[in-house]
Amino acid sequence: MTISVPTLTLNDGHTIPQLGFGVFKVEPEETTRIVSDALETGYRHIDTAAIYGNEAGVGAALGASGIARPDLFVTTKLWNDRQGTASAFDAFDESLEKLGLDYVDLYLIHWPAPAKDRYVESMKALEQIRESGRARSIGVSNFLAPHLARLLAETDVVPAVNQIELHPAHQQPEVTAFARAHGIRIEAWGPLGQGKYPLFEEPVVAVAAEAHGKTPAQVVIRWHLQMGNIVFPKSNRRERMAENFDVFDFELSHTELATITALERVGRVSAHPDDVN
Ligand code: NAD
Repeated sequence: MTISVPTLTLNDGHTIPQLGFGVFKVEPEETTRIVSDALETGYRHIDTAAIYGNEAGVGAALGASGIARPDLFVTTKLWNDRQGTASAFDAFDESLEKLGLDYVDLYLIHWPAPAKDRYVESMKALEQIRESGRARSIGVSNFLAPHLARLLAETDVVPAVNQIELHPAHQQPEVTAFARAHGIRIEAWGPLGQGKYPLFEEPVVAVAAEAHGKTPAQVVIRWHLQMGNIVFPKSNRRERMAENFDVFDFELSHTELATITALERVGRVSAHPDDVN
């Protein structure tokens, strides 16, 4: 069975598959096998980053797949120590080279790193990269509302996305409202709570899973999709890749969505964006 993943339109007119595959903590030597499995499962949107150290493995899997470039959506990210102008250009060139691509679909500033105070400058560099055609879309990650507000005030760029930690226990209502008001799509990283937060044991998740004959992970992914988030859950295991992809044959009711949304408790599983520099 071929599953077709819905796409969302970004504020620059490009489209993005709403469900993808993330490769954080995928070991470099395992990356080609794991990304090849994901592509065979049907994923076409891959989310990596320079700091993950696995762009070359992602590129090798993409190259070996035989999938036409326009059918793929590839994101990578600028690491904090390369923020700036010349350093960002160099970092981008290195990423593109490792990926073996002529362009990426989306290039993100990985963290605002406010103590460095270079994210405005970096965004202007990304704007030039976008103008060169080597990144179709540009955006940010881990930006809070004040960081986004400053970008909007001091650059001509409205980021296409803001990729933030987001799952039912940590929904970041302030930044998501700010982003949506400005046409910035939300990408939810750690969509399953990274396996650290016991989302799957929450009774409302388990009850919905039982009701739909689905797993708790599928219910949480479905919640993200119906909330309008872009997600790319990660798993090294092929059966879980398939499970996480098989989420388009059921729909959560308004009540189920609301009870899962009520799990909010500022359950951040990773670092605060002001503290990552
Ligand atoms: P995730 O929420 O996707 O959790 C992944 C973990 O959940 C797996 O390691 C596994 O333990 C478990 N899991 C996956 N599928 C499962 C299933 N079906 N049943 C049970 N357990 C399952 O966390 P993540 O990998 O951190 O986030 C997804 C992607 O987001 C990353 O791979 C990366 O691409 C991106 N990300 C970005 C940032 C950022 O700062 N921008 C930070 C972290 C992650």
